Amino acid sequence: MHHFRYAGPNLHCESVDLAEVARLYGTPTYVYSAATMEDNFRRLQRGLTGLDVQICFAMKANSNLAVLRHFANLGAAFDLVSGGELRRVIAAGANAKASVFAGVGKTEAEIKLALENGIFAFHVESEPELARINHVAGTLGVKAPIAIRINPDVDAHTHAKITTGKSDNKFGIPLKYAGAAYEAAAKYPNLALKGLQMHIGSQLTEVGPFVEAVEKVVPFAAELKAKFGLVYFSIGGGIGIVYRDALASGQPAWWDAQPAGQRPLTPEAYGAALAPLLRGLGLKILLEPGRFMVGNAGVLLSRVEHLKRGAGKNFLIVDAAMNDLVRPAMYESYHEIVPLQRDTSRRALVADVVGPICESGDCFAKDRQLQEVGEGELLAFMSAGAYGYAMASRYNSRPMAAEVLVKGSAFELINARETFEQMIGGEKVPAFLK
Ligand SMILES: *Cc1c(COP(=O)(O)O)cnc(C)c1O
Repeated sequence: MHHFRYAGPNLHCESVDLAEVARLYGTPTYVYSAATMEDNFRRLQRGLTGLDVQICFAMKANSNLAVLRHFANLGAAFDLVSGGELRRVIAAGANAKASVFAGVGKTEAEIKLALENGIFAFHVESEPELARINHVAGTLGVKAPIAIRINPDVDAHTHAKITTGKSDNKFGIPLKYAGAAYEAAAKYPNLALKGLQMHIGSQLTEVGPFVEAVEKVVPFAAELKAKFGLVYFSIGGGIGIVYRDALASGQPAWWDAQPAGQRPLTPEAYGAALAPLLRGLGLKILLEPGRFMVGNAGVLLSRVEHLKRGAGKNFLIVDAAMNDLVRPAMYESYHEIVPLQRDTSRRALVADVVGPICESGDCFAKDRQLQEVGEGELLAFMSAGAYGYAMASRYNSRPMAAEVLVKGSAFELINARETFEQMIGGEKVPAFLK
């Protein structure tokens, strides 16, 4: 469920008319709903009632400072993957002490920064990394808290570029070698063994693979708890969201109408399936949701530049492009595209919705049926709150888009559109070319 709906003909985010946002701040612009993020956070937390749960928002999905602060205010910590992300947590006025640091290639400088800021734990992906973290902790005279990421070898049934829990992925240590990895970790003088971690992939819309992975790993977690006194088990993120019927899925009625067995995963179903498996462990449970927390809480606003009618094909050329939202080009992913002003008296249009970038891959949708729209009219790309702005680039020298946060009837710019001067700010022509 989310807070984007038509009020009369106009698409609103909470109580704010999105056309007003576009008028004030231009396009392309990302708009996020604070209420939707809060609902997502609370529903997931409630779904696991009875367990000692800490939600660590996987901030790589959306790392705007305002988004981080909003989640921190609700009680979230963060799953971060770089020194830059750690610095964002601090800049947002949030606390790094309940946050975890993941990733396969943490540098010595990043490890040092995390230790200085009292990180809750490092999620370690290999044996050489144990040695490195031990070394840095030693130079600071501290013990580094760690958990080892294990790879449960479970098929997440998701897109190849976002599956992480199979043995042929670069992530984690295979379950059969994990015991030896903990034994090795225990021998390092500057490491403190605190937890166990896994993350099997992203955009999972069924609970089955989560259940399979948890069932597979729980006995091992119990063994490690007994042997090394572990205090937590992180079951990762990966909960999927609705992309295809994104707008309709904002209403409870849509969920009720889904045929049995075909309903996309809800936080309630996730909690109901997993909580009983985890309850007996007596460990703190960390969750690392990224997409689920913000995906349906954001849209990308864009303006139509031209409707180009071709031979047997129409192209709707918009002012957003693959540099703003790369998911369709990178993962062949679907985003629902809706007009900001709905007019049911208009004819339907079937068109490829494309950006202005000089790449055939700069295509958001093929043969998409939309309400007929023309130059200057506004569209929203739904479910763009996760891996949207966060993966944006300046390709074709297009500035980074603006971001706006809505809360009730209030809205504010939380990231100004990049200026040309900012875009070229670090560049210079060397003296030997002058
Ligand atoms: C990316 C990532 C997540 C978040 O994944 P989502 O699918 O966005 O929930 C969680 N944990 C780790 C280790 C990750 O790499």
